[in-house]
Amino acid sequence: MDRLDGIKVVSFDAEGTLVTTDFSYSIWYEAIPQKYAERYGVDFATARGVIEAEYKKVGDQRLEWYDVRYWFKRFGLGSPEPVMADYRHRVAYYPEVKDVLTALSQQYTLIVASGSMREFLCHLLEDIEPYFGRVFSSLSDYRQLKTPEFYQEICKEMGVCPEQIVHVGDNREFDFVSPRKVGIHAFYLDRSGQGDGSLASLVELKLRLVDL
Ligand SMILES: [Mg+2]
Repeated sequence: MDRLDGIKVVSFDAEGTLVTTDFSYSIWYEAIPQKYAERYGVDFATARGVIEAEYKKVGDQRLEWYDVRYWFKRFGLGSPEPVMADYRHRVAYYPEVKDVLTALSQQYTLIVASGSMREFLCHLLEDIEPYFGRVFSSLSDYRQLKTPEFYQEICKEMGVCPEQIVHVGDNREFDFVSPRKVGIHAFYLDRSGQGDGSLASLVELKLRLVDL
């Protein structure tokens, strides 16, 4: 296994990488349809059908898809904050996460580079926030998806060259192709373990980065 030298910063995607998608999924597919059902006096299944159709129309290549404020406003559902706080118990970390963060934080500055909004990240990262020097949200901080420019901006903010950063995440385009374009060492995390040349868990990242 190739070892990496000269690395200063290790960057993590949030959802699907550190934290499961349970919390966000609950917001998108339970909380929002539930609020919609109450607001318009329809049953939950009807509400969910309407909501999913609206999500599909927008699609995941547009910023609005990820923007919880946009959806609450669009459907007239009030403020997202109290609803999200009610679902806080759905936040769950992958089993290896705390061990890996503890080990890597001895040697590297750890950061989060996420496409999720801060409204999500404040819940998603609550228990592991102390491990991170910085948390970047492409949507909240730069109004963009995780583009090469977003990663360039992170290098600038962190005061390091792209070659000194490792990034890991579970979206091939946003966490692998995009950071590689600017020269960051990127790893694609495929927890199904079937991806060619990908990592099956963050333990594999630790093995490449920690002096044994
Ligand atoms: Mg992800």
